[in-house]
Amino acid sequence: MQGLLASKNLARAICCVGTVSGLRNSHLILRILGILKLGCLIAGPSAQAYQLISHEQMAHSALIHLKNYQPYFQETAKWVRDATPDQFRALRAVLLRSSIEADLRPDLWGENILLGPANGGHSGSASVLFTSVFHFIVIRENPDGTVIPGEFWKHHDGYSWRHSSQTGAFDSLLSLPTSRIRGDLSHSLGGTTPAHVRLPFADIPAYKKNFRLSDSAFRRMFHSSSNRAIDAVFPPADVPAELAFNHVMRSPRATRTTYEQWWSPIAVMSYGGKKTTPRRFTEMEVEGYPSKLGALGLTLHLAQDLAMPHHTIGTLDFCHHELEEEMEKRVCGSQKTPDQSPFFKGTYEVPTKNCQHLYDPDLVARMLKTYDFFRLDQPYGLSARLRALARTTHQWRFGTVNPDAPNASIDQALDFVATQLPNGQVYSGNRCRDLFKHRAVQEQIRTQFNLGVAASIMVIELAARNYENGTGKQRALRSTNH
Ligand SMILES: [Zn+2]
Ligand SMILES: [Zn+2]
Repeated sequence: MQGLLASKNLARAICCVGTVSGLRNSHLILRILGILKLGCLIAGPSAQAYQLISHEQMAHSALIHLKNYQPYFQETAKWVRDATPDQFRALRAVLLRSSIEADLRPDLWGENILLGPANGGHSGSASVLFTSVFHFIVIRENPDGTVIPGEFWKHHDGYSWRHSSQTGAFDSLLSLPTSRIRGDLSHSLGGTTPAHVRLPFADIPAYKKNFRLSDSAFRRMFHSSSNRAIDAVFPPADVPAELAFNHVMRSPRATRTTYEQWWSPIAVMSYGGKKTTPRRFTEMEVEGYPSKLGALGLTLHLAQDLAMPHHTIGTLDFCHHELEEEMEKRVCGSQKTPDQSPFFKGTYEVPTKNCQHLYDPDLVARMLKTYDFFRLDQPYGLSARLRALARTTHQWRFGTVNPDAPNASIDQALDFVATQLPNGQVYSGNRCRDLFKHRAVQEQIRTQFNLGVAASIMVIELAARNYENGTGKQRALRSTNH
C-alpha cells in the first residue's frame, strides 16, 4: 500500500515535469516521459467531474421553458405542452438521461501495447471515457476575426491532443508512444464494436458516414497501423450531433412505452493494468415519439457543451474541468461539488432536486430572439447553427497571462491562468478559483448556462418540427453554409 502511494506521488511529479512549458517542444523527452505519463491517468484529479448535473439541468430547464412559454413550432407544443403527464415524465426521463450519458458512452476504443484495447482511463473513483473527444468544435480565428478553416475537417477541426495545450492529465494517455485509436473497434469511427459490449443507442449510424473527409484520409487517421493517438483529429461535435439528430428523424414512431436496463462492463486502463468497471445502461421508448428519441440526448449534450468555452479551443486545461465544476456547484447553489456518483454508476432516475439555480427564463427568451443561429424562422441547418454557437461561446477566452502585464494578451504563456470575458475584461490569478470569485465571471457562468438551455430548446424545436413533418421517412436536416 505504501509502495503504491509512493509510486502515485512519483507519477504525479512526472506529470508536472512533463508539463512544464519549456519541455513541451522537446519531442524526445516527451516521448520518454510519455510512457511514464500513464501514471498521470491514475494520479491525476481523483474525480473527473464532467458537468453532468449541468447537462441534466440544461435539458430539464429547456423542457420547463417549452412547457411554460409558447414554443415557436406547434409541433413542439404537441410534443411537450399537449403531452399527458405520464408522457411528459417519460419524455423528460429519456432526454435527461441520454444527455447525461453522452459523456459516458463506451463507443470509442484506444489501445496501448501494454494494456490492450480499452474505452478510457480510470483514476480511483471515476472513469474518463474517450468518447468525450467528440465534444469539441475548435474555432480558430485570424486576428481580424475570420475563422481559419480546419486542417482535417472542412469547416473546423475537432479535438486533437497534438494541437492542444498538452498539459491535461487525463488526455495525456493519447501521447503514450504506443497508443493507437482503434477505428476497427470503435462503432463511432466505422468499426465493429466487440460483440460482448452492448452500447446504448448502438445503431446510431457510424460517425464515419457523411464525414467531411475523404475516405482514404479517414482510414489513414483511424484504421491504419499508423493511427497514432497523438496524431488523431476527431470529428468536430457538429458531426455526431447531426448524425444522432438524423438517426432520430429516421426512426419509426414508437407504438408503446418500453423500458430496458442492463449492466455492461467498460474496459478502462488503470494503474497496474487494465480493468473493467461495471456500468448500468438504460434505453427507453415513449409511445407516440420517435423510437430513437434517446439519440436526441447526444445532440442536446453536444449543443450544451458548445456553450462552454473550452470546447471551442480544444483543451482540457486552462480551468476546463474547474469551470465545469464551478458551474455544477452554482447550478445546485452549493459550496461543494454535488454528488455525481449515481451518474457514473448509471443509477439515477429523476432530475436532481434543488438544482435550478441558474435557469433564467427571461434571459433564455432574449437569447432565442437575439442570436441568429437560434432563430427558428431562419433556414439554417443544425451544423451551421452549432458552429455559430461555438463562435459566440469562443468570445469568452481562457489561457495564461503575463503577471507583470495582466491586461496584455492572454496568449502569453506563463504559469498564470487568465480569462477574458466577451466584453474584453481580463481577470488572472494563480488558480482557477481566483478567476471564479469575480462577480463578472460568475455572471458569465450564468450566461453560458442559459445559452446551453437556449441551445437545447432549439434542438428540441427542430426535432419536433422535422419529425412531425417528415413522419418517420424523414427528410434529413442538411447543413447550410451560412
Ligand atoms: Zn461532453
Ligand atoms: Zn468539458
